[in-house]
Amino acid sequence: MFLNETQEEVRATTRSFVNAVVRPAAEALDREERFPAEIYEEMGKLGLFGIAVPEELGGPGFDTLTYAVVMEELSRGYASVADQCGLVELITTLLVRHGTPEQQKLLPSIMSMQQKVAYCITEPEAGTDVSGIRTTAVKDGEGWVLNGGKIWIHNAPVADLGFVLARTDKEAGNRGMSIFIVDLHAKGVERGPKEHKMGQRASQVGALDFQDVRLGPNALLGEMNRGFHMMMSVLDKGRVGIASLAVGIAQAGLEAAVEYAGTRKQFGKHISEFQGVQWLLADMAKDIEAARLLVYAAAMKIDHGLDATRSCSMAKCFAGDMAVARTADAVQVFGGSGYIRGFEVERLYRDAKITQIYEGTNQIQRMIIARELLKKGATA
Ligand SMILES: Cc1cc2nc3c(=O)[nH]c(=O)nc-3n(C[C@H](O)[C@H](O)[C@H](O)COP(=O)(O)OP(=O)(O)OC[C@H]3O[C@@H](n4cnc5c(N)ncnc54)[C@H](O)[C@@H]3O)c2cc1C
Repeated sequence: MFLNETQEEVRATTRSFVNAVVRPAAEALDREERFPAEIYEEMGKLGLFGIAVPEELGGPGFDTLTYAVVMEELSRGYASVADQCGLVELITTLLVRHGTPEQQKLLPSIMSMQQKVAYCITEPEAGTDVSGIRTTAVKDGEGWVLNGGKIWIHNAPVADLGFVLARTDKEAGNRGMSIFIVDLHAKGVERGPKEHKMGQRASQVGALDFQDVRLGPNALLGEMNRGFHMMMSVLDKGRVGIASLAVGIAQAGLEAAVEYAGTRKQFGKHISEFQGVQWLLADMAKDIEAARLLVYAAAMKIDHGLDATRSCSMAKCFAGDMAVARTADAVQVFGGSGYIRGFEVERLYRDAKITQIYEGTNQIQRMIIARELLKKGATA
């Protein structure tokens, strides 16, 4: 449906990899909170990192719809694995759009996961309101000196390269921030302990502290003082990624619920024969399909160069809310078993929650949708 031959092929390849490698590993990865380096190495070989990187820069050059399809399939296996794909996609998109030829030489090692990346925006006083960041980069000779701290950064405990948003002009608000590529093994970089999270527990999240970290002249990504704008410019695509990830989690819940309903017996019948259970399954299926179609529409708008902001926020907000509600339904179909560790739906419910929070909370998505409606009109 809607997908061309290439997109169908990529989906089939990703699905068979996920069924063979990712989904069977998910329960243990969640329990052990382990970074699955071996899975990422294989994904690198399959070309599942840096999906939109153009062929001339060593990538497969796929479009946003293909990216969405890959994210859903990976997340159907395990959301943490999809989240790694989404993170690499954001960073490689920034590098392709704004990197110098020298900086773009980093792409192959990022796409093969030889170098692990981190996207470093959030600080204790600056979550939703990014304009509150206090990390500074001060010019020093040819380079800069970085001071400050970031929290809740995906990959922080394991990353090699940080893409760090820092203030470069204290007086200029959002027009006074820049993005720097930081060697996270450099002198002055400290890592906080790994956070223990509700869900997506194989994703390693933690703090980074920078004390007088010296950055060379090639560390600045793109234009000076344009960091906020650059960061915002990749958010539409990021939201398509998280929306697809949410659809994948809910799809896994639906598959598990349908299978369980067809095997569990009560009152001498399979529970799938009870209308109350059938309606739960039907509502799950229709809302997942609606979210998937919103994701595809948003991705296709990006690919056709159309204004996609409203669609991307609608997809992210709807899919995140849907995933939380419909994985709760999956737990309900399983009854008490759904509440017990080790059953897939229990993990899926926990994994879904963060999709309403990161990449812009769903309150912020609603603000964006309303702003776009009031500015550009309600016509579709
Ligand atoms: C697992 C995980 C991974 C993460 N990964 C990264 C990462 O890799 N890099 C990174 O930089 N950050 C990362 N983050 C941080 C994440 O982006 C922030 O948590 C998120 O932006 C929200 O910020 P906050 O937590 O400070 O909440 P706050 O901004 O304090 O918001 C608290 C509540 O207030 C609401 N709110 C705030 N402002 C408004 C408003 N104007 N109108 C209505 N409601 C509002 C929010 O929606 C929310 O419900 C991660 C967080 C987690 C938990």
